[in-house]
Amino acid sequence: MPPKYAKVDAQKPDRATLGAAARLLRDGALVVFPTETVYGLGASATNDEAVARVFAVKERPRNNPLIVHVARIAQAQALAEGWSDDVDRLAHAFWPGPLTLVVPRSRRVSDLVTGGVDSVAIRIPAHPVARELLILAAIPIVAPSANRYQRVSPTTAQHVIDDLGDRVDLILDGGPTPLGIESTVVSLLADGPRVLRMGSISAEEIATVVPDVQWAPVRDDAPIVEPDVKRSPGQVRRHYAPRARIELVGQIQSMFIDGGETVGWLVRGAEPGEKRLGSTLVIVLPDDAARYAAALYAALHRFDAEGCTRVLVEKLPADPRWDAVRDRLMRASMPPE
Ligand code: AMP
Ligand code: MG
Repeated sequence: MPPKYAKVDAQKPDRATLGAAARLLRDGALVVFPTETVYGLGASATNDEAVARVFAVKERPRNNPLIVHVARIAQAQALAEGWSDDVDRLAHAFWPGPLTLVVPRSRRVSDLVTGGVDSVAIRIPAHPVARELLILAAIPIVAPSANRYQRVSPTTAQHVIDDLGDRVDLILDGGPTPLGIESTVVSLLADGPRVLRMGSISAEEIATVVPDVQWAPVRDDAPIVEPDVKRSPGQVRRHYAPRARIELVGQIQSMFIDGGETVGWLVRGAEPGEKRLGSTLVIVLPDDAARYAAALYAALHRFDAEGCTRVLVEKLPADPRWDAVRDRLMRASMPPE
């Protein structure tokens, strides 16, 4: 049976539609909804059967913990064991928004959600559809990106339909997601504050609130090292990857493409858009980090849809504002294990 599908206004979503979606979530169903980052595959965090279905639908390993989404700080506190000043400052500075906080977990949180670790990742999203849905559901909701494991996250409802098809119960279509890359993840555990995943909120912005926060710079001239699994479960080297082989290149100059391979070019420019040059699909993205991030995954999905086997990506400016997209492209370019 195909999933139910409903269009919702991104700014003023229809309450009856969201009310029905919230009831489905409370009953253990899987509901896909837009957030300001990417589309999430939502399920009740308090229902182990529903959470198990999320892992099955995504084909995601069970040791890769899920982020729990809530509507209010009080709900977040109920999932945590203790609530430090740093956590409180970050929550007040950036929630609702694209920030996930990893904090000591309450015993109430299921082992299935946390992959068995002693912490839990929590976020209050800002997208009006996600917010309203979480308020109406009034329970914590796990919502990993609505795609199969290690694939490119969906930024439109169509991406979800293409990737997960009939595996979910309801898809709420609120149009393209505004930020386009996953949330910044900051860990606030006993070993000190640390950025585990770059996102739209930069490490420098986090440091304005928590000055001793640490992070590993993202470089495109050095391979991504195998992450410390205990500290950063689920942060695998290869991730966010399309089917095509991704290569970061200094500058794309030559028009010469050997063989019959369908090749993609991802470049930056003043006139974003897409054009075909023979068997080459050229996508021009904005030369601005935030706007590039917003459009990146749709471009990667396009290359897949066009059957590109190889995508040449013009290297990004060294400026730290590009770190989050640099991180995603570096991971997408890692060879499969
Ligand atoms: P997503 O796949 O976007 O839902 O993000 C989930 C990611 O958040 C995981 O793959 C981890 O990288 C991170 N995460 C979730 N829970 C934890 C945790 N308890 N400790 C550290 N990182 C976590
Ligand atoms: Mg994901």
